[in-house]
Amino acid sequence: MSAETNQTVIVGGGPTGLSAAYHLDGDWTLLEGAPHLGGWAKSILADGFTFDYAGHIIFTNDEYAKQLFNLFLGENIHYQQREAFIYSKNTFTLYPYQGNTYGLPDEVLQENILGAVQAYLKYPDDYKPKHFRDWMDTFGEGIANNFLVPYNKKLWKGVPLEEISVDWLGGRVPQPSVEQIIDGAINVPKKNMGPNAYFGYPLRGGFNAIMNGLIGRLDDSGPLLTNKRVTGVRVRDKVVEVDGGAEEYAYETLVNTMSLPQFIGICDKVPQSIKDAAARLRWISIQCVNIGIENNRTDKHWIYYPEDDTIFHRIFVQGNASPYCKPHPATSGYTAEISYIPGQGRPQDVLGEQGLIDRVVRDLETVGLKQPTDAVLHASVVDMPVAYVVYEENRKPTVQLIKVWLEDHGIHTAGRFGDWEYYNTDHSLLAGKRVADTVNNAMSRTAQAERKQSAAERVRAQMEAAGITTNHADEWAKVAAAHKS
Ligand SMILES: Cc1cc2nc3c(=O)[nH]c(=O)nc-3n(C[C@H](O)[C@H](O)[C@H](O)COP(=O)(O)OP(=O)(O)OC[C@H]3O[C@@H](n4cnc5c(N)ncnc54)[C@H](O)[C@@H]3O)c2cc1C
Repeated sequence: MSAETNQTVIVGGGPTGLSAAYHLDGDWTLLEGAPHLGGWAKSILADGFTFDYAGHIIFTNDEYAKQLFNLFLGENIHYQQREAFIYSKNTFTLYPYQGNTYGLPDEVLQENILGAVQAYLKYPDDYKPKHFRDWMDTFGEGIANNFLVPYNKKLWKGVPLEEISVDWLGGRVPQPSVEQIIDGAINVPKKNMGPNAYFGYPLRGGFNAIMNGLIGRLDDSGPLLTNKRVTGVRVRDKVVEVDGGAEEYAYETLVNTMSLPQFIGICDKVPQSIKDAAARLRWISIQCVNIGIENNRTDKHWIYYPEDDTIFHRIFVQGNASPYCKPHPATSGYTAEISYIPGQGRPQDVLGEQGLIDRVVRDLETVGLKQPTDAVLHASVVDMPVAYVVYEENRKPTVQLIKVWLEDHGIHTAGRFGDWEYYNTDHSLLAGKRVADTVNNAMSRTAQAERKQSAAERVRAQMEAAGITTNHADEWAKVAAAHKS
């Protein structure tokens, strides 16, 4: 029980919550429900392998986010040209499928090219797709039916593609022209296209190294408390309950970073209209099966699997993200990502933990990432109950309605699941800064006058103090150039 009132209580110790703590000028208390900090930017170290919670890489266009990565990682980062592929019709094609179909069987190429030309003639340049499924048709029936539809059905499971909007696609999914589609079908791919074609990754410690770097830069403005699952919020009393009320934390300001619908579910005195709004938000969950094997079986970074012969939709080759993610060069570390609809049974519930592992191992053999003679050196399953928010048509106004009600009660909500946005880690770090700025700006004028340095000054000072002299400017320029291509 925390007797005195906390200036700011932060719920959740992922990138957003930790970044909020880093950027807050006043005192804070951070409550993290899990035993470890880091949220989905955590990593698991086991049997000499490092596995992230699903494939994670670093790419950003934001100058301040670059500074944060520089500060948190220093020299513990390396950069690589993306080697991402799609495996369909027993063939590897370079990502993105729509721009690189060279090498697929003739009949598939014919469908893809014919469809792309028909789509070019059908859709005007300024055509605005009505929904995600409609957007797929703008590449033509061939590309839609041979990759975009089956892959996305596998990823989004039961969510009809017609119910997903298109406002999250900009800047994420490469949109080649018809000329590029045809060129990519008849010529050997020349270069990678789209965002993250050049990316960074921590050398040691997996993606979690970013979180460790952040935690190491926090001052003593507040405690980071783990194993503190928030189970109730008394919004009028301004009190947070942990573990069913076993502990209570009074607050002046509350920053939430846990999933918005679940957070509304634990607040008291919520009007029916807000409960109804929260109930409309949908999401997808992921289970990752981590497999370490002897022998190095691929140089690729990740591979998409649109077909039904594998239970996973994507394999992240964790052992190629950094050489330090595996115990020996002659081993492979894979993260197999399998999505499921929350509440409809995890793959692990359906097959049993060992059954799920066996299925993934078998499927790795089917697609040639493992030979039957390769010994399995590590196998484990992790669950990500909230992984992808579903961008439904009314998501924006629905989230806005909930936010207004929360803010009326002194509660800010931020982050991938607090803002209910498709954020990567850079966006989440920036969301944490944004929410901290809002809280800082609400402080009294005297307190504001006494504020510490600006965020950018603080980062610079910490870099100087830590002796971090390189800013990786050349590498970041390549990341940015890849973004624009
Ligand atoms: C499959 C997948 C792939 C991704 N790939 C990339 C990538 O390649 N590059 C990239 O930059 N980003 C990637 N991301 C995004 C990145 O993981 C997120 O942006 C980031 O983790 C979100 O940070 P957050 O702090 O907002 O939320 P989270 O990381 O979810 O953190 C929220 C925290 O709140 C805690 N919490 C929840 N409920 C409670 C409670 N009741 N009480 C107390 N604590 C609670 C959780 O335990 C968690 O620690 C990916 C995400 C997913 C799901």
